Amino acid sequence: MKLCPFCLQDVVWRVRLKTMPEHRFLMCFECDSVWLEDQPVSDLVGTVFDRHMQSLGLAPDWKDIEKLDSLE
Ligand SMILES: [Zn+2]
Repeated sequence: MKLCPFCLQDVVWRVRLKTMPEHRFLMCFECDSVWLEDQPVSDLVGTVFDRHMQSLGLAPDWKDIEKLDSLE
């Protein structure tokens, strides 16, 4: 399991948006950190859920997130 490099409290999940299923990203549900699929999961890069959704022009809605699997 890959622990979130920011909070070390939870594993990192591969997720997608129900309203935009082709858009996948990586996320920690403990501290809301987000990484894009082509980014390394490290504490040097990444954003947070609210800001990520804003960058997509979407309202940050937790119910829109679908968990796929946890990162190995
Ligand atoms: Zn975290």
